[in-house]
Amino acid sequence: MFSGHFVLVLLFSGLLSGVFSQSFIRIWSGNRNSENLDLISSDRKILRDDNLYCESWRFTVETNDAGLWEEVPKRCVKFVQDYMTGNGYGSDSELVSEDSSSFAATVNISGDGKDAWVFDIDETLLSNLPYYKLHGFGSELFNETTFDEWVDLAKAPALPESLRLYKELLRLGFKVFLLTGRGEAQRNVTEKNLLFSGYRNWERLILRGPSDVGKLAEVYKSEKRSDVEAEGYRIHGSSGDQWSDLLGFALAKRSFKLPNPMYYIA
Ligand SMILES: [Mg+2]
Repeated sequence: MFSGHFVLVLLFSGLLSGVFSQSFIRIWSGNRNSENLDLISSDRKILRDDNLYCESWRFTVETNDAGLWEEVPKRCVKFVQDYMTGNGYGSDSELVSEDSSSFAATVNISGDGKDAWVFDIDETLLSNLPYYKLHGFGSELFNETTFDEWVDLAKAPALPESLRLYKELLRLGFKVFLLTGRGEAQRNVTEKNLLFSGYRNWERLILRGPSDVGKLAEVYKSEKRSDVEAEGYRIHGSSGDQWSDLLGFALAKRSFKLPNPMYYIA
């Protein structure tokens, strides 16, 4: 189910091709020695400095300014690899976690058991980095078969900063809802993986059921949050690595975007 979104991404990007995004990507993902770049401009530093360009590219994808994007630009694959495996990813995740904790501490927990926080799972609670290390850090076309094989292993490690936040929220008295694009068929392996990685005591694990197939992630997740709210829960916070985790309706009072420069889910 996770991969269904990638199909949508490709579908939409196909529709967009020839409009602007594709030509933009083609120009800007060329390598620094490209003859084309010399023809475009001789004084724009991001055309020649891969690191500078990739820093700015990552800014645009994390802020959602880039909107729908389908793969890491070729000239940024090494940059993304260094970011994900070096100190950058952990440092960014840690600050997001700290901001989340700071906000959570301001919430007045009512004591009626209805104060809630929603977490996405992939690249939010669990890290699939061991998989993406073997598959180009987002530079390869998504392969549903090999990814599902990885999910079935139930060995994805926790993002340590998220696990810390998770435990803090439970301590404060929040009810934690896990809302994932994974399908019901992956419920058992997902529970097994969460337990393996140190997560306990969630209120509910929500996965895509038969009626959710084909829905955009933003719609599916909004509908599920709406259902939770209809039960009387107050969703104070929401954590996710995709904007589709955090936009739509039935939104949390505060949404916290975790970094993910490897893929985009519409
Ligand atoms: Mg995710």
